[in-house]
Amino acid sequence: MDLIERIKGGITEHSPTQVVVDPVLEQLGIKLLMKRDDLIHPIVSGNKWRKLRYNLTAALRADHHTLLTFGGAFSNHIVATAFAAKGSGLDSIGIIRGEDDAENPTLKAARELGMELVFISREEYRQKDEESFIQALRQRHGRFHLVPEGGANADGVRGCAEILREVDQDFDIVCCACGTGTTLAGIGLGLQRGQKALGFPALKGAEPLVDEVKRLMDVSGLRTATGREVGPDQLSLNCEFHFGGYAKIDRELLRFIEGFKERTGVGLDPVYSGKMMYGICAMAADGRIARGTTVLGIHTGGMQGWLGMRHRGLLPPDFNTPV
Ligand SMILES: *Cc1c(COP(=O)(O)O)cnc(C)c1O
Repeated sequence: MDLIERIKGGITEHSPTQVVVDPVLEQLGIKLLMKRDDLIHPIVSGNKWRKLRYNLTAALRADHHTLLTFGGAFSNHIVATAFAAKGSGLDSIGIIRGEDDAENPTLKAARELGMELVFISREEYRQKDEESFIQALRQRHGRFHLVPEGGANADGVRGCAEILREVDQDFDIVCCACGTGTTLAGIGLGLQRGQKALGFPALKGAEPLVDEVKRLMDVSGLRTATGREVGPDQLSLNCEFHFGGYAKIDRELLRFIEGFKERTGVGLDPVYSGKMMYGICAMAADGRIARGTTVLGIHTGGMQGWLGMRHRGLLPPDFNTPV
């Protein structure tokens, strides 16, 4: 697959919300809707686009010529930022944790989209939010609009708050995968009375993320849809389905993703939405999601992640990726 050919395709505003018929969930009495943010763009991850759009507006308004951001070498956010910057006529700089690899599909795509890549050690990367570190970057690279790793800032939340505004259908629980928690924060702001949000962290030991989600909701400066505070009864995390940690996969998860695609036609990504959907099905099977519940799953995209998995030799040779 040619990544660049795919990236050239445009952005689809207002992704569809579809009824996804999964006989397994149907038997358990669960109705599944999916908000297909993966269809916003085939490669640029749906929620990454949402998190970037108001960052782009802010950068352009402040007359910046460059976006600078941070990410891992297989990060959906890095490709998305390179794409978004290029589309807005901005230069982009990606500060990457670890070493260069000319054959890494994510880095290759980012470079082809004009992003300047700067590689730093894991130790240095840990200082990325410190003022002195950012000052040093400004001295070296000049003026730039800084987008934090994963687009986790107020503008990122603002973009994600639009997800539920685009959904007309009724639902009981909305689910999304979590990295920084920005997407869940945006969703939390849009909950109506009686609706719940459930996040599935893709990282191990992510229990404290629930406080970060709260913080992000606060810094966004946006009001909740109901005008009331969103309490822990309304917004929570299920931290069980990380499969060993960030970007870790096993045969069981791959088999699930394959099966889900066969049953529903919907391809999931291996790092985020695959784990979320696995979690939803497991909770439906053991009754934690009750019969009669309508679940809205947010498909946040991330399909470029498969290329990195393949590149690192993490997939069985006979495994057909859904992209
Ligand atoms: C980055 C990413 C997430 C995590 O989003 P956060 O807002 O950082 O929690 C979820 N799904 C996909 C596909 C992603 O690329």
